[in-house]
Order: sequence, then structure tokens, then C-alpha cells
Amino acid sequence: MFDNLSERLERSFKLLKGEGTITEINVAETLKDVRRALLDADVNYKVAKKFTDTVKEKALGQDVLTAVKPSQLMVKIVHDELTQLMGGETADFDVQGKPAVILMSGLQGSGKTTFSGKLAKLLKTKKHKSPLLVACDVYRPAAIDQLKVLGEQINVPVYAEPDSKDPVKIAQNAIQEAKAKGNDIVIIDTAGRLAIDEQMMNEIESIKKAINPNEVLFVVDSMTGQDAVNTAKEFNERLNFDGVVLTKLDGDTRGGAALSIRTVVNKPIKFVGTGEKLEAIDQFHPSRMADRILG
Ligand code: GDP
Repeated sequence: MFDNLSERLERSFKLLKGEGTITEINVAETLKDVRRALLDADVNYKVAKKFTDTVKEKALGQDVLTAVKPSQLMVKIVHDELTQLMGGETADFDVQGKPAVILMSGLQGSGKTTFSGKLAKLLKTKKHKSPLLVACDVYRPAAIDQLKVLGEQINVPVYAEPDSKDPVKIAQNAIQEAKAKGNDIVIIDTAGRLAIDEQMMNEIESIKKAINPNEVLFVVDSMTGQDAVNTAKEFNERLNFDGVVLTKLDGDTRGGAALSIRTVVNKPIKFVGTGEKLEAIDQFHPSRMADRILG
């Protein structure tokens, strides 16, 4: 995903790597290149500027100019800063409770339903949990079928009320069902629209209020560039979500928006989706992602 960005960064660093000694001027030049690479990779302008300003400050503060291997020190500083930009530590994921309730949010097509299935599978196989998937989309009957197909594939029950038009009630009933049947995780897939609209926002806000979930996850297609950041901002203002799921990182995305989301909404990226298959899910590790970006 970050091929473009890492290649660009590498080229910038080559400039430094070639230098025996470094001057403040070529640190600045290199950082200008880094900033351009970030902008070209769709990183939000403010984020890119703040990033290079911080790197410059650290580089000069840590005496890059007199370091034995200045380029290596620069690479380390950039790596550390990228890691920080993406949240530093791997974020926690709260699955405590009987049951723990996870609420999915996001636009239609972002990958919510697929991710719900992936998460259920992950929690079932790796954490030995007993999930219940919940279809809370009352507008598209196909959404219920899609979740049922996923549930069958991973042998996880799916709760749905095909005749109901009240997603809040469905969510509440599902939690009761989980308690009665001994499911310790409830994953609620909600309706999404192609664009943000008031009704969708009101609806998911009401669901959140009514059920007080452990985690509200915002699912976003990483291929949508700057739009991903803007959508994240709007959902966060309404929902104050707990974490972000970046899907479609396997695609031909430059991934820059991924770097920006954390800074703009100040919420951790918790999971990534890397394919259509149900195993294509990973927890998000900032440091590993920084390794990948730098190549
Ligand atoms: P929803 O409308 O938000 O529930 O989105 P879906 O879960 O139906 O996903 C929309 C499309 O994106 C489907 O064709 C999925 O197979 C695909 N998709 C979801 N996650 C990923 C991913 O991580 N990588 C790829 N390549 N495709 C994905």
C-alpha cells in the first residue's frame, strides 16, 4: 500500500545517505522531499507539515549534524515520528463484559459487514469467545442475508428481525438474546449510506445511547483518500467513536489518509482489513506499519 511513499522517502534519504556530513540546509531539503512524498501519498497538509516540523526539531535537537551516521539517525527519527503519528502503542480492544458489545459504524461499502464477520471469526478462534452477530440494517434485506452467509461460513449465530423497522430495539433484543444464549460478544452491524445523512447519524447515535457499547468502531475504506479523513471527522463528532478500522489496505491505495486519520480525529486505528477473505484482518501495530512505510 505504501510503496509510493516508501520509495519516495528512500530516495530522499539517499540524498542524506550519500553525504559524509550533513548541514542544516540538507536536513531541510530532505524534509521538504519527505513532506512532498507525504502530500503525494494523500496525507493531509497540516499533518504533513506538523510531521516534518517535528522531525526537523528532533533531528537538530539530537545533533544529527554531528552524528556518526546522520542518515541512520534521520531514518530512526522519521520512523519514531511515523509511529507516534499513528498512535505509538498498539491500541487496546475492550472485550470485557457479559456480553461485551461492539457497534460498527461507517458508510455503505466501507466493509462493515465483512469486517463484522472477520472480527467474529478472530475473536472466536483466537480469543475463544462465543460471538453473536447482529443485523441492524432495516433498509436493505440483502444486508441481513449477507451477514447470515458470513455467519454460516464461520459458524457464528446471526440475530435478525426481518420484519422490524426499529434498529434500537433490534440491538437491545439481540443483547438479551446473547445473555440468554451465553454469547459473550455481540457484534452489531448497522446500516450505512453512500454519503453521510442526518437520518443515519441520528439512528446510530440512538443505538449507541440505548446500548452503551464497549467499543464503537468506525470502519473506513482506506482507498477513499482525503474523503476517509473527512468522513471520520463527521462520524467522530456525532459518535465519539473508540477506534478506527481501515479496510482494503490490500488494494492499490497510497494509504496517506490512514496516517492522517489518527491526527485529525485523535482516535486510534485498531484493526486493518487486508482482503475479502475472512482471515484478512490484523490488529494495527503503529511501529510495524512505520517499518512497512520506510521499507
Ligand atoms: P458494508 O456495506 O460497509 O457492509 O461493506 P461490505 O462488507 O459489504 O464490503 C463492501 C465490499 O468491499 C465487498 O465487496 C467486500 O468484499 C469488500 N471488502 C471489504 N473489506 C475488504 C478488504 O479489506 N479488502 C478488500 N480488497 N475488499 C474488501
